[in-house]
Amino acid sequence: MTTLVWFRQDLRLADNPALQTAAALSGAVIPVYLLENGDGPWAAGGASRWWLHHSLAALTADLARVGSRLTLRASADCGASLLELARVTGATTVVWNRLYEPAHIARDAAIKASLRAAGLTVHSHNAALLHEPWDVRTKTGTPFQVFTPFWRQCLSLPDPALPLPAPATLRAPDSWPDTSLLDSLALLPARDWARGFHDAWTPGSAAAHARLGEFLVCAFADYKEARNRPDLPATSRLSPHLHFGEIGPREIWHATRLYGESQGTATPWRSSHFLSEVGWREFAYHLLYHFPQTPEAPLRAEYARFPWRPDPAALREWQRGRTGYPIVDAGLRELWTTGWMHNRVRMIAASFLVKDLLQPWQEGARWFWDTLVDADLAANTLGWQWTAGCGADAAPFFRIFNPVLQGLKFDPAGAYVRRWVPELARLPDEWIHQPWEAPAAVLAAADVRLGDNYPRPLVEHGAARDIALAALQSLKSPG
Ligand code: FAD
Repeated sequence: MTTLVWFRQDLRLADNPALQTAAALSGAVIPVYLLENGDGPWAAGGASRWWLHHSLAALTADLARVGSRLTLRASADCGASLLELARVTGATTVVWNRLYEPAHIARDAAIKASLRAAGLTVHSHNAALLHEPWDVRTKTGTPFQVFTPFWRQCLSLPDPALPLPAPATLRAPDSWPDTSLLDSLALLPARDWARGFHDAWTPGSAAAHARLGEFLVCAFADYKEARNRPDLPATSRLSPHLHFGEIGPREIWHATRLYGESQGTATPWRSSHFLSEVGWREFAYHLLYHFPQTPEAPLRAEYARFPWRPDPAALREWQRGRTGYPIVDAGLRELWTTGWMHNRVRMIAASFLVKDLLQPWQEGARWFWDTLVDADLAANTLGWQWTAGCGADAAPFFRIFNPVLQGLKFDPAGAYVRRWVPELARLPDEWIHQPWEAPAAVLAAADVRLGDNYPRPLVEHGAARDIALAALQSLKSPG
């Protein structure tokens, strides 16, 4: 008996229930990855494709260590590809771990039906979440729309199961099906703009576990206070590993528990701020599952009428990190160079695009989608709708981040700005977040020429804020 294991966003051997099910059936196991060559609005962006290439290489090596092989195929129709693979390998069972993006849910349901109609046995499992989105409900049975009660409810449920071990070996089939070479999938950019990614990241499950271990030992204790500081290495940077399923949330939960317990009762791990951030990821999936329209449309329907002022030139300056607001520009340049941006800076940069420049939040979401190595439909949608004030648990629209005050508070010595906006590096701390306020002599001494080697602010924040509030007001008046 042969089983196909269809890998997707679960590129790991440990705590992989689909793989574990296949191994337990004691027949041959054929791991498969199908690269969909669709070009829909949420097809993988350039940064995600870079990560995927390296993650598939790591998975291939991990599988080789347990005597197995990854069959790779480009596919226009995953259902047809699985049927064909079942036919040539004689597989009678197909297993996978569930995805939660609306288009994937619909597609997987159709594939499951067609495989079953063809006489195959199909099993699907949860590898991506602590709790299934349909298992967390308010007392009246409706989905949650506010984070705090959602997470409280999650914490009241039985603890997530212990992570499954990686199988020690996987039985090989008598012959392997044809596979494409990883390079032939052309996931890497033709022009190597991803050089900075190599310095910042090591995709793959082993690196994900190493990162988690290092985070727990070096940064977990101070996480609550330091996590908002982009100038410090204070967060886990696990987001791309989590998105691609190189590590799962159950593994994070239990590693955090073991670390917390080893530190004694003074280190509460269950109620830790770190696990609650993993809870935000759960919340994002909960919302995407129950409100599948939200990647495109605001959850609070009245915001569909918001009077945005689409301006491709302003959007372009924002994308290039040339807004004239140093913390915003630093974030967008960090994003371009490394494929990642610190969470606090994501909020500041997103707020600036939406509220100071009045660009639709969907434009920002699309840019992040293409440039983030952790681009994730659930988390990105939540992040943008939260910042735009039009989603669940939203900060009200009228709470508008001041990029100067945010910079002074969270990057107090300007180290983050100096790193990513080197043309401002020689400005004294006092002016680093507001170079246009600096005396001419200070600018000259630091070799900052506003409007020349660093832009003047695209908009004046106070005035932009007033315009945004007036736009909000117009939304409220009967229309
Ligand atoms: P840590 O602080 O170490 O947190 C641990 C894990 O918890 C993260 O890896 C992540 O999986 C999860 N997490 C933390 N904060 C959030 C959050 N606010 N929402 C959802 N999950 C969270 N995250 C993505 O993974 N993909 C995205 O595409 C994405 N887009 C975003 C867009 C905007 C506008 C904003 C404001 C936030 C976005 N986030 C996104 C959430 C957050 O910024 C990142 O998850 C976080 O910065 C990742 O860094 P970390 O792994 O060091 O997080």
